Amino acid sequence: MKYYILFGPPGAGKGTHAGAIAEKHNLKHISTGELLRAEIAAGTELGSKAKAIIAAGGLVPDEVVEGMIENAFNTISGVDGFLLDGFPRTLPQADALGKIIAARGEELTGVVSIMIPDEVIRERIAHRASVEGRADDASDAVISHRIDTYHAQTEPLIDYYKAAGKYHEVCGYPGSIEEVRDRVLALVDEL
Ligand code: AMP
Repeated sequence: MKYYILFGPPGAGKGTHAGAIAEKHNLKHISTGELLRAEIAAGTELGSKAKAIIAAGGLVPDEVVEGMIENAFNTISGVDGFLLDGFPRTLPQADALGKIIAARGEELTGVVSIMIPDEVIRERIAHRASVEGRADDASDAVISHRIDTYHAQTEPLIDYYKAAGKYHEVCGYPGSIEEVRDRVLALVDEL
């Protein structure tokens, strides 16, 4: 099985490009953000716990998302691998993912990182708010908290995966959606 991490700050275009990568390589796209939003929509206990954290732009506890990933790996079949989007987001999550994959006797294929400058993060999120209506895209304070959370907790993963020789990056800006998609697809083809 292939295990790809689609990495990047909020608004980099992970969700936009995940479908094309997954389709081309027969991967299951797993977005922890989407799974959490589905729990909220379904009114589950987990969803009600996650709702306030997501609305404030914070991170839900590591164990919650780690459990979702493990569950997905154990229940999804008929694909050649997984494309993780929005996970891992902290160093403990990255360690947990390494252990989960190792326990399956396999290894991480690579990190595909889409990088955009901070100014562009805000523009992209403002645009997405008008299209998707996500609650956590609506307020400047929440967006700022998500950007701060990204820098403090998620960005250290870049050095973590560089040290492991697994980190690969494309520019998510400038360029049209099609141009960025071609860059991302070309990178994944090489891994
Ligand atoms: P996303 O759709 O990836 O932007 O995720 C939306 C929100 O869900 C994030 O701002 C977090 O509150 C929460 N979330 C998604 N993935 C994770 C994760 N791996 N760890 C913790 N919280 C997460």
